[in-house]
Amino acid sequence: MSKVSEDIINNKADDNTTSAKVKAATVWLDGCSGCHMSFLDMDERIIELLQKVDLCYSPLVDHKDFPDMVDLTLVEGAVSSHEDLEKIKKVREHTKILVSLGDCAVTANVPSMRNPFGVKAIMNHAYVETAVTKDIIPNEVVPELFEYSRPVHNFVKVDLFLQGCPPPADAIYFLLTELLEGRMPDLTKVSRLGK
Ligand code: SF4
Repeated sequence: MSKVSEDIINNKADDNTTSAKVKAATVWLDGCSGCHMSFLDMDERIIELLQKVDLCYSPLVDHKDFPDMVDLTLVEGAVSSHEDLEKIKKVREHTKILVSLGDCAVTANVPSMRNPFGVKAIMNHAYVETAVTKDIIPNEVVPELFEYSRPVHNFVKVDLFLQGCPPPADAIYFLLTELLEGRMPDLTKVSRLGK
């Protein structure tokens, strides 16, 4: 049994007051939400997974604060701003197994398409040149962007990488069930970049 799956099976998050379910989370950084849509595409298999998994934090559930510790977090999206960075650092600190879910998390993919142009130029294009109503670059609400959008593992340790744009629902299901069964998933056979 691999160290990663051992962690999932044996070292469940340190909260003895709750059930023996694996504590899991999903996080959305700079992505289009397509990876979360693919997660939902597992359809009725989500109900099966919830017999063994407690989804304690996610855009898909109503919990507002990241738990003290979870066994597994799937992260969608690249790191493109201080807000993303603070979020992923906190998640890493409170997660045993961190999975980059999808090409934006794995390579920065679509968010990195702006990298060659620079922040000033793309903000100007988005909020001034193509503006319909206002032509003001916002300095609040919209997070301040890093000069480059970069993959998650450039900032924090990532334990597993599931490629795909988005990764197919079958691949996400395979990842989760293999870990729950105590096996290290061979993800090269279930997804690839851009698929
Ligand atoms: S990998 Fe594809 S589907 Fe997932 S967030 Fe990025 S663009 Fe969207």
